[in-house]
Amino acid sequence: MPKTIALVAHDQKKDQMIAWVKANEAALAGREIYGTGTTGGRINAETGLSVTCLKSGPLGGDAQIGAMIAEDKLDALVFFIDPLSALPHDVDVKSLLRLAILYDVLLAVNEASATAMLARTS
Ligand code: PGA
Repeated sequence: MPKTIALVAHDQKKDQMIAWVKANEAALAGREIYGTGTTGGRINAETGLSVTCLKSGPLGGDAQIGAMIAEDKLDALVFFIDPLSALPHDVDVKSLLRLAILYDVLLAVNEASATAMLARTS
């Protein structure tokens, strides 16, 4: 079971992330959860879970999560990417995905995959 998990959602995906977290609160409880600033802040405010907030994604939060992966400090990443918007920190998004692939970290980039990942690792 992945103990340490990071949750990141782009702006148009944040409501979906909150709904997904609420629906999976029991499965997420007991794990050490990290999030980019805005995503993590909303989860802290709107759900019963406690998230350690890093910087906001465009200000380096994605890079911080990438560094955690490179240092073997993260077991799983749920990353709700918005496929319909251009983002100023696209290079950071690509870097985070690259590191998750490189280090073979559990990675879910949409809700169906995230739910399946949690079910398999609960
Ligand atoms: P945010 O960052 O949670 O601070 O909005 C997410 C992102 O865009 O990477």
